Amino acid sequence: MSTVRALVLREAEKQPTIAIEDLDRSLMSERPLRVRVAYSTLNYKDAMVMRGLGRLVRSYPHVPGVDLVGEVISDESSTFEPGDWVIATGFRIGELYWGGYAQEALLDPGWALPLPTTLTPRHAMAIGTAGLTAMLAIMALEHVGITPTTNAPLLVTGAAGGVGSIALMLANRLGYDVAASTGRMSESDYLTQLGAGTIIARSDLDTGPERPLESERWLGCIDSVGGPTLARVLAQTKSNGAIASVGLAGGAQFSASVMPFLLRGVSICGIDSVNALLATRTRAWERLSELLDRVLLDAMVTEIELDNLPDYADQILSGHVRGRVVVNLHSSL
Ligand code: NDP
Repeated sequence: MSTVRALVLREAEKQPTIAIEDLDRSLMSERPLRVRVAYSTLNYKDAMVMRGLGRLVRSYPHVPGVDLVGEVISDESSTFEPGDWVIATGFRIGELYWGGYAQEALLDPGWALPLPTTLTPRHAMAIGTAGLTAMLAIMALEHVGITPTTNAPLLVTGAAGGVGSIALMLANRLGYDVAASTGRMSESDYLTQLGAGTIIARSDLDTGPERPLESERWLGCIDSVGGPTLARVLAQTKSNGAIASVGLAGGAQFSASVMPFLLRGVSICGIDSVNALLATRTRAWERLSELLDRVLLDAMVTEIELDNLPDYADQILSGHVRGRVVVNLHSSL
């Protein structure tokens, strides 16, 4: 029997069980592009999938992993050549379709992009969905006219997480004065190293707003937290400012006044990395490869193997993972 090593979820009493298995290749859904996966990553959504949260997986057995980078083995569509390196993120890989937590993946060629020549496979996964999302957030803010100014800082919430860490680095590199909001003040040195000029305690924001309009503090925001934090940031955003709404680590619901829209012209831009258009993704990866400092990127990465994933899934769900987690698919062979 021809097998690949994989992290496999099966369903028992409506909950996923996790096992590292030698998975029969014939169980993989036929798709044209066969890739030997070198690295995957752990994102918040991967942890939700592994722990059966949010009803993201519809059928089992399932192989999670929303990100992957690897070498093309074959491509029946002739879009790629054997030996090409490709990145695949989003498009519901790892949710509806089997993802990167296996040594091989079968993909639709439309889900893959060539690995930029200036990025190593490991750096590409240090970026992964989190970094792509951070870049898309900055591009969305640029699109509505948010450019670096000395008048007010750009706020990054959930700053010590994956999206937050890369957003800080990118914003600093682009010349923004950046403020980082965190529940982990012990990570202040880390956040300063990535580019935060000011560190704000999470508790300063997660109470929700006291009034529909509060004192104007922020040029804009890249928000991984949502919930009452998003409502308070909205009330504190300056005239003509904008917020990129990325995540829900602090809650999916928020209750806010429309006053910031009507009296300050504030905008909220929704960020969806899963369905981002190919041209937008390509531009985002180009900019990521131009802007990111490889030394800082290496410093924010924890590299793990498939066996470590369940433990790290619990850590990311409880907000204890710093920066990015890269999964090496071949280190223990
Ligand atoms: P991480 O877990 O790495 O980062 C989230 C950070 O949020 C944590 O590190 C922590 O930062 C903060 N946080 C955690 N729990 C809470 C809480 N209860 N209240 C307030 N802050 C909290 O996740 P990612 O960076 O990978 O993803 C961040 C969010 O963005 C997630 O909700 C994820 O689902 C979403 N996401 C959305 C995407 C999209 O396309 N829209 C793509 C990728 C991610 P600190 O300790 O510094 O406070």
